[in-house]
Amino acid sequence: MSAPPRDSASPEGHGDQAARSQGDKSAADRPLHFIEQIVEDDLRTNKWNGRVLTRFPPEPNGYLHIGHAKSICLNFGLAAKYSGLCNLRFDDTNPTKEEDEYVESIQEDVRWLGFDWEDRLFYASDYFEQLYQWAEQLIRAGKAYVCDLTADETREYRGTLTAPGRDSPYRNRRVEENLDLFRRMRAGEFQDGERTLRAKIDMASPNLNMRDPVMYRILHATHHRTGDAWCIYPMYDFTHGQSDSLEKITHSICTLEFENHRPLYDWYCDELGIYHPQQIEFARLNLTYTVMSKRKLLALVKEGLVWGWDDPRLPTICGLRRRGYTPEAIRDFCDRIGVAKFNSTIDVAVLENALREDLNRRAPRAMAVLRPLKIVLTNYPADREEEVDAVNNPEDPAMGTRKVPFSRELVIEQDDFREDPPSKFFRLAPGREVRLRSAYIIKCVDVVKNAQGDIVELHCTYDPESHSGTPAANRKVKGTLHWVSARHALRATVRLFDHLFRTMDPEDVPPGADWHTNLNPNSLEVLDDCYLEPSLAAAKPGDHFQFERLGYFTADRVDSRPGRPVFNRSVALRDTWAKIEKNQR
Ligand code: ATP
Ligand code: MG
Repeated sequence: MSAPPRDSASPEGHGDQAARSQGDKSAADRPLHFIEQIVEDDLRTNKWNGRVLTRFPPEPNGYLHIGHAKSICLNFGLAAKYSGLCNLRFDDTNPTKEEDEYVESIQEDVRWLGFDWEDRLFYASDYFEQLYQWAEQLIRAGKAYVCDLTADETREYRGTLTAPGRDSPYRNRRVEENLDLFRRMRAGEFQDGERTLRAKIDMASPNLNMRDPVMYRILHATHHRTGDAWCIYPMYDFTHGQSDSLEKITHSICTLEFENHRPLYDWYCDELGIYHPQQIEFARLNLTYTVMSKRKLLALVKEGLVWGWDDPRLPTICGLRRRGYTPEAIRDFCDRIGVAKFNSTIDVAVLENALREDLNRRAPRAMAVLRPLKIVLTNYPADREEEVDAVNNPEDPAMGTRKVPFSRELVIEQDDFREDPPSKFFRLAPGREVRLRSAYIIKCVDVVKNAQGDIVELHCTYDPESHSGTPAANRKVKGTLHWVSARHALRATVRLFDHLFRTMDPEDVPPGADWHTNLNPNSLEVLDDCYLEPSLAAAKPGDHFQFERLGYFTADRVDSRPGRPVFNRSVALRDTWAKIEKNQR
């Protein structure tokens, strides 16, 4: 089994093709990344009594994207590699942005990626009562106080990176008063924003997160799980580490922007005197030509700039799935890009290449003509038809062959004919011969035009002795074209996609403009009357094919109907011509 050469765009060349094709096992063949090294050191020193327990902690405020896939593969991957476990935990502390729709979609996507949290599905909101008790504990210890500053005042008192903060006038309230006010906050006596509970740490700390951070805010909002039971909600920083602690997480892996939250993570665990996991930060995934922030993805969906969260042009997991990505390709991609401590942007071509390699192995070949040009074989009897044998997958002989109908009237791609061919154009032209894939050699003898001078059809002759598979088929011609018998064709819609953004970095905008400026107006092309070989009528939603010479296509999961699939191009072929010319008989 041979595979295309490694894509030169791949940033970190660990693992070879053989290793990668075995999916997760390939991790064994590359050097350990820094988090694996930490875990192995911990196993060696028995720091966690031999346990490895990670978690994936999404906030249910949007759909998952390929960046989350990196975190999922890392957390579940470490657990699998070191005989540990990985929890799924919803970090649901912000009732105004969280919805059950997201809770459902996140579970579907993690499962689809191939990971299993078994019975370890948790919600930070399940810990609200415990968190509240811990807050009272800190108040009693003189480590937390109720503050009456408004949000604006709190910000102003906090100072800046260069200027120290100032103590809140409420900082030295007595414990009893703090307890009383905090209980009344919980009881709903105050309006949103009227008071907060803050940790009493150090207003002069060089780390802004340590300048008496807010622990609780008042928010009279209905929570997707706790309903109206609470009108105070803990902040992320006061929730995350304690949730990790309650679940006895060993390695709490998060992205780099939390690096300067770590002292606070540690402070809460230490001051509360509870089990203390280790927070480890890694670089988040960024991809060229797309946005990854949930806020922007939500804006694209809400503003109707895409079909929905599952638009095949989005980097969401459901968008990638609808586009035709496989879990294997995504996991392979996550393995290839590695885990590092510095931020970088990965070329989206690396992701596309992972899909190409996977579909090259699994997708049956088929012929489809997207922009048809009619061909009449003048020496082929009108009433005759035959079936030619076509190989289903040259990468996998076990996939066998199929019959493709051939007749007098065919279609080829408009692009595959030039009346006035430039040099090195080895496709069809007046007087030239080409091979029709899996069938005969034909020669163009006449170009038929309408009154406006547009080409309407080509008249060709076929060489009956040249059927592929016969000895005479060895006769060399320079081009091989795909084709479909016009009479037998399945007429279908095929969609082609380009990057959603025109620029590698969508944020790179002229002064005064925002990322919308960089949207690619031509990111979607819908071809309504394509000619597909008839076997494709049986394609089921989600089935993958390689349309010869055009790329990998997947039957749309939403718009396909029985017998009438709609196809999305998942990824184009690389080096189409080089490959075709090499493979040609
Ligand atoms: P926000 O917090 O702005 O809503 P988020 O992308 O951080 O967005 P979370 O739901 O908090 O969303 O993310 C869940 C987990 O996925 C976190 O551990 C986060 O660090 C990780 N994650 C999110 N985006 C990426 C990314 N681009 N690359 C790697 N990991 C990511
Ligand atoms: Mg987050």
